[in-house]
Amino acid sequence: MEDVLIVGAGPCGLAAAIACKRAGLNPINIEKGSLVHSIYRYPTYMIFHSTAELLEIGGIPFSTPNEKPTRQEALQYYRLVAKREGLRINSFETVTETQKTDEGFHVTTVDRFGETHTYDTKNLIIATGYFDNPNRLNVPGEDLPKVSSFYKEAHPYAGLPVAIVGGNNSAVDAAMELERAGAEVTVICRRTELSDKVKAWTRPVFESLINKGRIRMMFGSVVDSIEERLIRVKTGEEVVELENDHVFALIGYRPDRSFLQSLGVKIDPETGSPQHHPETMETNVPGLYIAGVIAAGHRANAIFIENGRFHGEGIARHITSRLAR
Ligand code: FAD
Repeated sequence: MEDVLIVGAGPCGLAAAIACKRAGLNPINIEKGSLVHSIYRYPTYMIFHSTAELLEIGGIPFSTPNEKPTRQEALQYYRLVAKREGLRINSFETVTETQKTDEGFHVTTVDRFGETHTYDTKNLIIATGYFDNPNRLNVPGEDLPKVSSFYKEAHPYAGLPVAIVGGNNSAVDAAMELERAGAEVTVICRRTELSDKVKAWTRPVFESLINKGRIRMMFGSVVDSIEERLIRVKTGEEVVELENDHVFALIGYRPDRSFLQSLGVKIDPETGSPQHHPETMETNVPGLYIAGVIAAGHRANAIFIENGRFHGEGIARHITSRLAR
């Protein structure tokens, strides 16, 4: 019987493991990909908007000579933290089912060789993030192989007409990188202006590329449909057809709450977040906790590494105080 099982080894799942371990518990993280798999999947040359200090977990210093850390540095940092803290992490093992039992929870997993494993745990922390569950465009053609919700690198798109849907940092960063690599970039943004969260230092550069006609910006526009060689974009009542080879739908992510709901966690109809105590992060199901982005409601970006990294401390305190009773 485990005392704490954590689903996910993202920054917040790792922070929860460190907090539990330091509180005298013996947590295990089950991670379906690699350590901090979401960060691994980010654009290769991505630079965080947070400073290194605000991405630190377990109080372990994250130092970088850069003003803001790169994805590469963050991968290295979280690897180092996991090693230094001696965390028990089963990577490339997917949690497929969770059931409530009299003593806690029964967890079923499948490892990278297709073998099934089961665990019993007194406490279960769900820290599965949101990156596996991108928002959908809900338009015809969305499931074509040329449409992707994840952007990695620009090189393959040099010389090709590429459309980016979105108006936040991911869309702006990808557009600028693709333009530099020589892609013909069109950005389609539902709103009439960019998100106010776009990094202050990239906004003027992006705007200048638009003004120079090097990126085509379509504000107040939505994707109408996508076909093999074209994309239809609707602006007001007008629909235009654009030649197109690839579409990046960079319109955000939302947490998948299926595990939580299957275990009886209620979702607050107003906020959209799983019912939980804000300090202990315990849900309405005793012994079942949430950490990181999974705790967010309709506004998925309200929780990120900067604040989600502290969830584990409340959880560890709550578990140990219950054990002491
Ligand atoms: P995640 O990091 O998503 O980790 C969840 C883990 O759970 C994943 O590794 C996943 O593989 C695993 N998992 C999911 N389902 C299962 C399962 N069934 N079984 C086993 N494992 C499972 N935040 C900041 O604070 N600062 C920034 O500068 C910043 N920049 C960002 C830039 C980009 C491009 C993006 C997309 C996000 C950025 N964020 C930033 C947000 C930040 O990455 C997330 O808030 C953070 O990853 C959340 O951590 P988490 O541990 O809750 O979830």
